Amino acid sequence: AEPPAALAVPQAGHPGLILLDRIGTVDPSSLDDYRTHGGYTALRRALAIGPADVIREVTESGLVGRGGAAFPTGRKWGATAAQPDHPHYLVCNADESEPGTFKDRVIMEGDPYALIEAMTIAGYAVGAHLGYLYLRGEYPRALHRLEHAVAQARARGLLGDDVLGQGYAFDIEIRRGAGAYICGEETALFNSIEGYRGEPRAKPPFPVEKGLFGKPTAENNVETLVNVLPILTMGAEAYAAIGTEKSTGPKLFCVAGSVERPGVYELPFGATLGELLDLAGKPDNLRAVLLGGAAGGFVRPDELDIPLTFEGTRDAGTTLGSGVVLALDDTVPLPRVLLRIAEFFRDESCGQCVPCRVGTVRQEEALHRIAGRTGAAAADDIALLRDVGRAMRDASICGLGQTAWNAVESAIDRLGAYE
Ligand code: NAD
Ligand code: SF4
Repeated sequence: AEPPAALAVPQAGHPGLILLDRIGTVDPSSLDDYRTHGGYTALRRALAIGPADVIREVTESGLVGRGGAAFPTGRKWGATAAQPDHPHYLVCNADESEPGTFKDRVIMEGDPYALIEAMTIAGYAVGAHLGYLYLRGEYPRALHRLEHAVAQARARGLLGDDVLGQGYAFDIEIRRGAGAYICGEETALFNSIEGYRGEPRAKPPFPVEKGLFGKPTAENNVETLVNVLPILTMGAEAYAAIGTEKSTGPKLFCVAGSVERPGVYELPFGATLGELLDLAGKPDNLRAVLLGGAAGGFVRPDELDIPLTFEGTRDAGTTLGSGVVLALDDTVPLPRVLLRIAEFFRDESCGQCVPCRVGTVRQEEALHRIAGRTGAAAADDIALLRDVGRAMRDASICGLGQTAWNAVESAIDRLGAYE
């Protein structure tokens, strides 16, 4: 099948970009071009300073996970490296499936060697000799480019038994998902690689202790990993000076919906939602913005001064998640959007635990019943939605069930849906 068209990167070529710097400029099929554009300087530095100092720099940089959960990367790497059990594994989570999220795809299609280099550094830091790259099945162009990049890196001694002639052995295997959202949950992803059903495992134990094949595993999102390159080239202190004190560095945002220029944008943490929407061309009749994807929440047009940081969105009672910014103008039928989100969770629930397996069905049924009703006529079903939502949040095994009611709840409470 024809691969889908490349995604828009409206800032491509603009000066000052860090993560998107090479997108649209570098030839993604050329290792030499990647090197001409600064590639492999970070890995050279990593191999020169040693694994412990790489972890120290990443810790001091303040880098936290960009998959959505914002866990400190240095802490994750340090905990993995310290495990006495061997082998250690590195897993790159490239199963980017949150509705509205497409930033990792832009990196993998436009700058694939950056991810290969970053995975090599991460593997070195945590003491792994094999890294798995688990790629969303619906990303054929990324697959093609990554396979080519891995083969080229191997042929040129940048992967294999003796990386850069420095005595470190590391290789990468690519695995493809088959369309299940749940396989992006880290432990379901491990099960999928191991050949089992993609069902989440109970945590703890956390993957740093018992992950892939029951061994210590550092699992990181694509965007998290590529941040390690500027951390090592500019130094932790300079990197930590970007953004805010608690959310350091640059961040990629996926802006879509009712805007003039949808696409992936890079901004330092701390820019406001309004500033980002102005860049993307905000509509005059904005009705709501969904932040953080289907697992996130809606905010109103009078809340555009929310700072795009993990702490700022949390304080505002919402979430940054993986950086989804979906704008809806007032022509978009909100109940239909909520129903679509509910259908999505019902469809993608793995069915392993009752609160999510049953709750996502009950939520969708209530939203069907409520469609077209408002005020007192909707009250019973809103009460039921709250009950079911609470049960899913409190008692589901994994993040899917725990967040399946977030968007609907925020639409009721913040947007006054069904009033
Ligand atoms: P989580 O908070 O359970 O864990 C985050 C990471 O920190 C995991 O790697 C976990 O193993 C690690 N961790 C947590 N506590 C630890 C500890 N004490 N010791 C060692 N490691 C520890 O979150 P999660 O369920 O992995 O992810 C939820 C997030 O995923 C949500 O915020 C959501 O936005 C996001 N998400 C992203 C996508 C996407 O496509 N990018 C899709 C769905 C969900
Ligand atoms: Fe599966 Fe949902 Fe339970 Fe997660 S919360 S384990 S997706 S049934």
